[in-house]
Amino acid sequence: MQKLSQRYIAGPELKDAREVVRRVNADGKAATIDVLGEEITTEEEAAAIVRAYQDVFADIERCGLDSGVSVKLTGLGLNLGYDLCRDNLRTVVEDAASRGNFVRIDMEDSSTTDDTLRLYRELRAEGHDNIGIVLQAMLRRTQSDIAELAELKPSVRLCKGIYVEPADIAYQDYEAVRAAFVRALEALFDAGCYVGIATHDEWLVSQGRRLVAERGLERDDYEFQMLLGIRPELGDELVAEGHRLRIYVPFGRHWYAYSMRRLQENPKIAGYIASDTVGRLLGRNGA
Ligand SMILES: Cc1cc2nc3c(=O)[nH]c(=O)nc-3n(C[C@H](O)[C@H](O)[C@H](O)COP(=O)(O)OP(=O)(O)OC[C@H]3O[C@@H](n4cnc5c(N)ncnc54)[C@H](O)[C@@H]3O)c2cc1C
Repeated sequence: MQKLSQRYIAGPELKDAREVVRRVNADGKAATIDVLGEEITTEEEAAAIVRAYQDVFADIERCGLDSGVSVKLTGLGLNLGYDLCRDNLRTVVEDAASRGNFVRIDMEDSSTTDDTLRLYRELRAEGHDNIGIVLQAMLRRTQSDIAELAELKPSVRLCKGIYVEPADIAYQDYEAVRAAFVRALEALFDAGCYVGIATHDEWLVSQGRRLVAERGLERDDYEFQMLLGIRPELGDELVAEGHRLRIYVPFGRHWYAYSMRRLQENPKIAGYIASDTVGRLLGRNGA
């Protein structure tokens, strides 16, 4: 697990994220920094996550990094109370605004979808425009969520959805999720939304390229997004073609839940780790 975390997580400290974002920026890619904190159980821990984000904004500004942030509402205390979470989110969003930065609210499992969209609407109604949401193509509700949110022209990261969800609310079939992703992407572009096309699926990346070209969208109208450590060569291709690409850079000590999710999602990772370890033992990877 330690090895896994090294590949997908910048490290335990802010300075680790800073170094990774510097490298990502040097490769012509933007970043979004995620403070890992989803296992919090007290208000104090949620407050510590808020302060960690404030440190991140200050660091981004001081070092001139091209990076926003991604937050998880459970990390800001959603399971402890809706109002507490809204106050924490507002603090983060206001701090970001004061430094010209942007906050993406990650989407967690389906038990949080309603609260997440409601909090987003409330902050937008208060006049905060430096926030965006995530929609999950696998959820059957997503198409109607897009229709309901369209008037707000939200900035949306579209992804397949990482959580295991029951069949009555989520497509289970791989091709059905892909098809739902394309439908959602079309609907978001129809609504004039800025979309972060978040996928490492080559077929979906091609569909993204196709839709962007067919609609004559400019570089500033959309971006591709990928997770740190996954399919970097596909990301390089997109950058070389002139697309914007943003890399999701998690850091922090709460790496266990994040790593477990990556592992559950893609058991092949266990195979990569095993073969890499064997490779090291055999000296294949050098010193
Ligand atoms: C920037 C970003 C932000 C995200 N934010 C959220 C969020 O807020 N909420 C949410 O539910 N989900 C989020 N996700 C996860 C997303 O929902 C998918 O679970 C994940 O991206 C895998 O789907 P895929 O589209 O890459 O397609 P897949 O078909 O799963 O992957 C395509 C190929 O990419 C490679 N690959 C994919 N994942 C891995 C991996 N973990 N390790 C190694 N190789 C891999 C494999 O080669 C695979 O064949 C995010 C994803 C990205 C890229």
